[in-house]
Amino acid sequence: MSNLDELYREIILDHYRTPRNRGELPSPPAVRVEGFNPLCGDELVIYLNVDNGVVTDIKLTGHGCSISQASSSMMSVAVKNKSVEDVRAVIDRFKEMMTLKERSLDENGEPVSLDLRTLGEIAALAGVVKFPVRIKCATLAWNTLAQALDEVSA
Ligand code: ZN
Repeated sequence: MSNLDELYREIILDHYRTPRNRGELPSPPAVRVEGFNPLCGDELVIYLNVDNGVVTDIKLTGHGCSISQASSSMMSVAVKNKSVEDVRAVIDRFKEMMTLKERSLDENGEPVSLDLRTLGEIAALAGVVKFPVRIKCATLAWNTLAQALDEVSA
């Protein structure tokens, strides 16, 4: 395993063992959205506060596999205190990372078409793309977040 793989594995395990932003927010005013991944049984509830176009607070409840739990924890850190516009851009980049085809991986199996440095910590989940059955585990948090943003602006 390369040093980078090791680092990414540590980041994922750390978020799984010590999930960030767990809990609930009063709803309303918070938007409450439920997500479910029937392939794995992952469940997630997102509470989202948006004020003046900025995600001022986010809390999560739910349970599931290590990938879904780590991804939702990392998502919550990545979007808190960001503008809705920036959050949508991060969602797009994350989904792009998770939809890479086999041919866009290099000889080491690493994605080549995306600059992972722009993704910060959540780049640690890039390796999930090599395990197609786990992709929905990783994207659950981001799809549910996108739904929550849609409800805020509805
Ligand atoms: Zn899962």
